[in-house]
Amino acid sequence: MALDETLRILGAERALLFLPGAGHNQLVPLVGRDGGGHDLKQLTGYSATLVDRVRQTAEPIVVTGSEEGEALGSHSMQVHGLRSILIAPLQFDGQLRGVVYLDSRVAKGVFTGEDVAILKAITNHIAVSLETARAAQLEVAVQAARRQRDVAETLRAAMADQSSSLDPDEVMQRLLSSLSRTLDADSAVLLAGSADGELVVAATHGAAAQVGIRVHPVPEELLDLTGPRTGATGNAFDALLGMPRSWWAIPVARHDEQFGVLLVGCRAVVTEAQAEVAAAIAAQGMTAYENARLFSQVRRMATMDGLTGLNNRNHFFAEAGRLRRDPVAAIMIDIDHFKSINDTYGHPVGDEVIRTVAERLRSVVAPGDVLGRYGGEEFAVVTPQIPVSASELASRLHWIVSGDPVPTAAGSLPVTISVGLACSHGERPDLRLLLAQADRALYEAKQTGRDRVVAYPG
Ligand code: GH3
Ligand code: MG
Ligand code: MG
Repeated sequence: MALDETLRILGAERALLFLPGAGHNQLVPLVGRDGGGHDLKQLTGYSATLVDRVRQTAEPIVVTGSEEGEALGSHSMQVHGLRSILIAPLQFDGQLRGVVYLDSRVAKGVFTGEDVAILKAITNHIAVSLETARAAQLEVAVQAARRQRDVAETLRAAMADQSSSLDPDEVMQRLLSSLSRTLDADSAVLLAGSADGELVVAATHGAAAQVGIRVHPVPEELLDLTGPRTGATGNAFDALLGMPRSWWAIPVARHDEQFGVLLVGCRAVVTEAQAEVAAAIAAQGMTAYENARLFSQVRRMATMDGLTGLNNRNHFFAEAGRLRRDPVAAIMIDIDHFKSINDTYGHPVGDEVIRTVAERLRSVVAPGDVLGRYGGEEFAVVTPQIPVSASELASRLHWIVSGDPVPTAAGSLPVTISVGLACSHGERPDLRLLLAQADRALYEAKQTGRDRVVAYPG
């Protein structure tokens, strides 16, 4: 699943997962997927030299073109033509567990340094999943002691459960329910530190307080928590946990910094064995949670324009490409004389204008429409509508921006836009062609005086 996400986000043609082979100083390809989400039948045509280099250095590498490949002594790279390759290590607990290998023909686009950060976040997630498989082997190894086998099984199940999702909220829910099962509990919460040093309920499971509730005052038992702690309750936790017989808590860290507490309300006194397993589940669960958070953050970054929060250009095309229906219309929008706003009031005010224009455009498009920031002060919309309603939409977009001055730090500025519209007419819509036609119409709107809507063919 993580491999498929990787392919989709980074637009690669193939992804391969390498794990240690029988000889320990060697990595062998285990699974491969193509861009369509199918398993690769043949795991060949990769650069063993580069894989080995990542194994030895544990550093990701990006290689494009045959020359660098030659320099690195990669023979298969020359054999398989110009390809762009991105390889990252899979690490867990500081140890190399394998590598992920992505490649693409150069004609399809080239990986960049930014993609490395994205792939690293993804490999973190895969490493946790691999740890699950390793825990399954561990189970076999500890057959001697029955209790230990139960522990291994509990851990393995918890890990499999938690690392099977990439949604942070879901991972946290699974962690809280694993903890509740292990500790024979009715309720569990994640308490996160707030800015003013108080604790706030950030996630709940079972009969506990609601998310967002402040814990005030913070129970003494939770102050200066440096490790797992358990106790019988007075009534300090009743409001949070329902009325438990006892409680168990563990501090949790994010980026090595303590940021909260996992707190569980139990039906009976917690045994030492239960507490031990719960601590292991909490540790691994928080790793899965952090990875899922990082993953969703990276996914958002990879698809969203930072200034406006709209789809970025790449993601706009990806989303617009999914509109396989007919009719479809494309609308191109460009702010008029924007350069003079920048020149007169400075770049930050220009940014404010772009942000407000984006907000206004967003307020007008429908959920089925795709809106994106196409370039600096250019936006594009693709909408599954017949020409007459697409034309109405174009007018509304024009009016919502041009109709009212834009408030900025430099005062209210009159801002207008020019809009170009192109509609498909019964034929199977070609997105690129429609956008080019809308761009032509936009050009005409600029030529004929700006601040207007022009439809192709004009
Ligand atoms: P026209 O009416 O013909 O569109 O004139 P214009 O000045 O808007 O056209 P032009 O495309 O020449 O200028 C666009 C300017 O937008 C140039 C560039 O410096 C500026 N720009 C691009 N991206 C950003 C950005 O993110 N923030 C700011 N403040 N300015 C940007
Ligand atoms: Mg422009
Ligand atoms: Mg402009």
